[in-house]
Amino acid sequence: SATAAAPFARSSPAALRRLLSALAILEQRDGVLNAGSLSAVTAAQKLGGSVHAFVAGSNIKGVAEEAAKVDGLEKVIAVENGAYDKGLPENYAPLLVENIKKGGYTHVIAGHTAFGKNLMPRVAALLDSQQISDITAIEDEKTFVRPIYAGNAIATVESSDPIKIITIRGTAFAAAPVASNSAAVEDGVDPKAENPTEWVSEDLAKSDRPDLATAPKVVSGGRGLKSKEEFDKIMLPLADSLGAAVGASRAAVDSGYADNSLQVGQTGKVVAPQLYLAVGISGAIQHLAGMKDSKVIAAINKDGDAPIFQVADVGLVGDLFEKVPELTEKLNKA
Ligand code: FAD
Repeated sequence: SATAAAPFARSSPAALRRLLSALAILEQRDGVLNAGSLSAVTAAQKLGGSVHAFVAGSNIKGVAEEAAKVDGLEKVIAVENGAYDKGLPENYAPLLVENIKKGGYTHVIAGHTAFGKNLMPRVAALLDSQQISDITAIEDEKTFVRPIYAGNAIATVESSDPIKIITIRGTAFAAAPVASNSAAVEDGVDPKAENPTEWVSEDLAKSDRPDLATAPKVVSGGRGLKSKEEFDKIMLPLADSLGAAVGASRAAVDSGYADNSLQVGQTGKVVAPQLYLAVGISGAIQHLAGMKDSKVIAAINKDGDAPIFQVADVGLVGDLFEKVPELTEKLNKA
């Protein structure tokens, strides 16, 4: 009735927060929790209400128990079923929707990763909610900040949907630490739906180098490297001397110098390492969109007017084929 609703309409911010409940979606692979996905917990905590986490897959118990140690989590909802191992969205979206309905969550948050980007639009569609993508800040429970036009403009968006389906930019929210909490672990509902999609196989690029998305140091090569042979010969020893991950511009990827998975930028990965060293990269806005939040940006380019120098903290104008091997040698001696 109208009278019963009145206290909520005039409720204090503290009372409102009690009504908020967020579900953070965690990622796992082969029973190992993806620590980067704990950024979703940090974002969920910023809303100020209760926070639960969700995991699904085979042998999920260990992952759920590790997640239960994350500070600030009230509950971990776990669903044990191999059908969810690879995060196939056709399987995972109906599962998540059932658990969102059961838990009565007001906010559902996942990383803006391959997993989250694949899954969350389907979840949003099933819930008839408009997804809010790739946010970098939370202003209040209905107001979110997200970069648009490759980071050239920042939009502040407000959502009136009862359930907010959100993906977050991992570099904008630190991963919640696995501490010594002991949140309750609870079995979620499993609709065990029949599915038209089946996982056949995957072909993973293996590398001993740090993961590009989370590495504290990244060295990226561009079209200036001229060929795949030169890219490998110049960039890989430099990366190894710094213990850095390797990245590339789209021009380098399109020319076949580097693998697709290494692309940094608007249509590649967004990184924000402590150190980003751009080699033979001009600094097009689409490239800057993926790395301009790096703490220290260094660039080596033979063209002193290259736009990369406008965002670089440290620059070296010179021929990369001469300067990079010299730098690598000095680093190896240091
Ligand atoms: P170039 O612009 O050709 O620059 C090469 C640089 O190397 C030059 O500055 C040159 O001075 C320098 N150089 C050459 N030889 C040497 C040498 N011997 N020593 C030192 N320096 C040397 N790009 C991305 O990177 N990531 C993206 O995600 C991305 N998404 C895009 C999305 C859209 C919709 C569009 C339209 C474009 C996108 N691009 C993206 C492409 C982007 O616009 C640029 O074309 C690209 O970043 C250029 O790559 P580059 O800097 O390696 O090459």
